[in-house]
Formats: sequence, structure tokens, C-alpha cells
Amino acid sequence: MLLDLGGFCISRYSFDNYLYRVAQREGVSFKLNSEVSAINFDGNQFEVQAGSEKMNCDLVIGSFGKRSRIDVQQNRSFVKKRSPYVGVKYHVRNNHPRDLISLHNFLGGYCGVAPVEDEVTNLCYLTHRDNVRRFGDIEEMEREVLYKNPLLKHIFTTSSFIYRKPEVINEISFETKRPVENHILMAGDAAGMITPVCGNGMAIAIHSAKILSEVVIDYCRDRIDREALENIYVHQWNSAFRSRLWFGRNVQRLFGNPRFSTLAVNVARSSKSVANFILSRTHGKSF
Ligand SMILES: Cc1cc2nc3c(=O)[nH]c(=O)nc-3n(C[C@H](O)[C@H](O)[C@H](O)COP(=O)(O)OP(=O)(O)OC[C@H]3O[C@@H](n4cnc5c(N)ncnc54)[C@H](O)[C@@H]3O)c2cc1C
Repeated sequence: MLLDLGGFCISRYSFDNYLYRVAQREGVSFKLNSEVSAINFDGNQFEVQAGSEKMNCDLVIGSFGKRSRIDVQQNRSFVKKRSPYVGVKYHVRNNHPRDLISLHNFLGGYCGVAPVEDEVTNLCYLTHRDNVRRFGDIEEMEREVLYKNPLLKHIFTTSSFIYRKPEVINEISFETKRPVENHILMAGDAAGMITPVCGNGMAIAIHSAKILSEVVIDYCRDRIDREALENIYVHQWNSAFRSRLWFGRNVQRLFGNPRFSTLAVNVARSSKSVANFILSRTHGKSF
């Protein structure tokens, strides 16, 4: 089906580098190869620790992704719950059409195929850790579970893999998070992560950064104080994303269950309005 808003795929590797160059041109200074280990708020000021260096600042934006040591240091509630989801990603070359994103189902998970830059295709799936445990080995699991879907078997066996090993991400959590925690303003996955089945995580990360930037500008121009900044951002974040994330979690439940997912795909295929409804609830509007 066609996406109303259109769409294109780009790797984080290229996009982050592009953003880095733009910000550098605008005068932003970066500290590369430096990991933040602690953030503390005291007396209306933050102290940020990175290696042996300590910095003080007025505002901190947490854009550290879905799971970071900062989540542990800040004692965020979602890190205390174990999550059963495992993500596996490859970069491959194959003849997948450059204007097509496809989503394939298998027992206990789903796999997205999306062309990125330089004739490379991103092949990425999400599964339950029980699937990995059962076979003890990613390749064996792929042969025994993913290959049961003939389309996935075709993609895996006819692609040439650019790296020998996949990138494997454990403990992917879709639990609700808070967009402001201990006065840190969270953006992107740090504020909340939409399930990958919606294919919208990067757009939401960019959109949340836009909403946050506008409120931060008001704060920096002394139009609002810290309390108002935090309240406005929480309100705007919730109105823009909360129900989309909730809907995404429920759509994901359909995938991986053979009976429900076949039914859902058949209904969405035969009824354009059902498919459009699902897209409208997860994809949001242009911004
Ligand atoms: C299996 C899977 C498939 C996906 N498929 C899609 C898709 O098809 N389309 C889509 O749009 N989205 C997809 N996503 C989601 C998408 O990747 C994220 O939503 C998006 O990358 C969020 O951007 P972010 O900047 O918030 O976080 P990230 O891209 O994770 O960036 C966070 C950065 O912070 C850095 N960092 C973390 N901790 C620290 C620290 N303490 N100090 C310094 N730096 C730190 C990290 O190294 C990283 O560079 C998928 C995700 C998964 C797991």
C-alpha cells in the first residue's frame, strides 16, 4: 500500500553524521568519544559527569536512546523490569525494490526489509528471547523459525551479507516512560519508544526534538520558567505521541501470533479503510 505522507529510508549512521555536520556549521561544539556517566540536579543547576570531566549547565536534554546507563543512574522505573524483546539487524545487498518497505511475519516476531543509501538494504527483525534461547544460536533460529516464511527464506538465502555477524540488541523495552525525569528533558527513544512494527521511531525522535526546541527557546528567552517549561513539554509530548505508542504496542501484539497476524493482514489488505486507520493511529501528521 502507498503511504499518504510518502517516506524514505536512511541509516542512523548517515543521518547522525548529517545532523552532526549541520550542528557544527551552526556553532555547536561536540565532545566526541565521551560517555556521560551521571547527571545530577541541585540548586536549579545540573552537574554532568563524563569521564573525569564535570560540567555545569541550566538544562539537560536526554537524547540517549532506548536504554542507557543514565536510565540506571536516574533510577527510571522501566529499567527495573526485564524485557523479552531482542532485535537483530543486518546490512545486505539484494534486489529488493528501492521504493518498497516490506514487513514479514514469523512465529514469535516480524522482520522489516528497507532499502537505505548506497544500494544497501537494512534487514532487521524483532523476536522474543525464548526463540533465541530455544535454538541457542541466531543462525539456527533463523533457519528453523524465520525460514518457515518462504518470503523470508528467499530474502535470507539470496542476499549477500555485508558484515559477517548481525548487530544484536537485547532488552528492548516498550514500557511507558516519562518525558521529563528529575528535570531532564527527554527526547526520542529516551522519552518513549514506539514499537518498530510502526516504522516510525526516527520520525518521532525528530518530532519530539522539534517540540522540545520550541519550548526551550521560550525558556531561554525568559518567557517561561523551568516549571512551565517542563509542564508544557509533558503536555505536548503526551498529546503528540502517547496514544500512538499505545496503539503501536497493541499492533505489535498481533505480530508473531500466526492466527491473529494472518487475520489482521487479510483484513488490512481487503479493506483500505482499516489499513488507513492503522496508519493514521501510528504515523501521525506531517510537522
Ligand atoms: C529492531 C528495531 C528496528 C527499528 N526499525 C525502525 C524503522 O524501520 N524505522 C524507524 O524510523 N525506526 C526504527 N527503529 C527505531 C529507531 O532506531 C529509534 O526510534 C531512533 O533511532 C531513536 O533515535 P534516538 O536519537 O532517540 O536514539 P538512538 O538512535 O538510540 O541514539 C542515542 C545515542 O545516544 C548515545 N548514548 C547513549 N547513552 C549515552 C551516554 N551515557 N553518553 C553519551 N551518549 C550516549 C548512543 O550511543 C546513541 O548514539 C527500530 C528500532 C529497533 C530496536
